[in-house]
Amino acid sequence: MAGEFALIEHLLRQTRANQATHPPVLGPGDDCALIQTSRPDLAWAVTTDMLVAGVHFLESDNPRDLGWKTLAVNLSDLAAMGAVPRYVTLAAAIHPADAADTSWLDAFFAGFIDCADTYGVALIGGDTTRGPRVFSVTAMGEVLANHALRRSGAQAGDDIWVSGTPGYATLGLQAKLNGVFLPPDVTAQAERALHHPVPRVSLGLGLNGLAHSAIDVSDGMLQDLGHIAQASGLDAMLSEGQLPPCPRGVDPGLWQFCLLGGGDDYELLFTAPVSARRDITGLGNSLALPLTRIGSMRRTAEAGTMTPSNVQVLDEAQKPMDLSRLRAGFDHFA
Ligand code: ADP
Ligand code: MG
Repeated sequence: MAGEFALIEHLLRQTRANQATHPPVLGPGDDCALIQTSRPDLAWAVTTDMLVAGVHFLESDNPRDLGWKTLAVNLSDLAAMGAVPRYVTLAAAIHPADAADTSWLDAFFAGFIDCADTYGVALIGGDTTRGPRVFSVTAMGEVLANHALRRSGAQAGDDIWVSGTPGYATLGLQAKLNGVFLPPDVTAQAERALHHPVPRVSLGLGLNGLAHSAIDVSDGMLQDLGHIAQASGLDAMLSEGQLPPCPRGVDPGLWQFCLLGGGDDYELLFTAPVSARRDITGLGNSLALPLTRIGSMRRTAEAGTMTPSNVQVLDEAQKPMDLSRLRAGFDHFA
């Protein structure tokens, strides 16, 4: 089976026979599923994300940061739907040694609860078992059903926006795993991005009614924007000159790889009509969060397919850049 998304589709094809008596408002395929509440205008947004030792983190990582990140990456999926985080459950597989001496787990929980308190989320249950360290969170948030930010809502002519500066988390990983040298100020920002991501919850809420579509950048901008393009039946054109510039002292080729192909940043990538520019700029200012307009959605003959070409970056001469070495994004099974 070629790749994570083909595998997920293969699994989901088998659920077609699933005779649900209460079908969801929105099933698999977006950052969250949406479930109707008893109030017709309100839905629950529900998401699950798992962090596995040796895949998503190293055993030697700081457990307090890891606890924060475990919850933050889930709240990021709620943010990508424009939902208010409310409740979470936590399933934990832990070493027997962690049960005997709970100092590692205590630090993990301190970070987890710090994140929960920061976003007003209640931990309402979970499961604990022996095993290699694995943490799986299910997060639930409330969203106005009509305003939920879906991947499929982009329209031709929409601006493409991104929050913050994606790329720093992968820079941090390159420094950590491959010893890539970074200037001290870049190192500090890269380590924060990698170990202490900030879920863009307030931004997601502010985009309710302003943006047409959104996704969080967990697997790399090209790949995640590709999901918006595919779900919306459009192509995405980015302008090289509008992308966040290479930080001083960082190799430009490495930066291009981190910015476009690197994941784990949890910034929001969203599309909005040209008429929303002023409001979006105002929203960014009120949140003290840079929001950058980086391209636009187009309708082309082949639009809507998850082909390598459904996201292009145009250089100053309006020529598509060769992005073949960056296309992969993050895929657990590639
Ligand atoms: P994200 O990066 O936003 O967490 P993923 O790329 O992990 O999303 O997943 C893509 C979609 O596939 C999501 O809607 C997710 O809920 C769904 N999905 C992934 N794995 C499974 C699974 N094992 N069973 C059901 N749905 C799944
Ligand atoms: Mg997501």
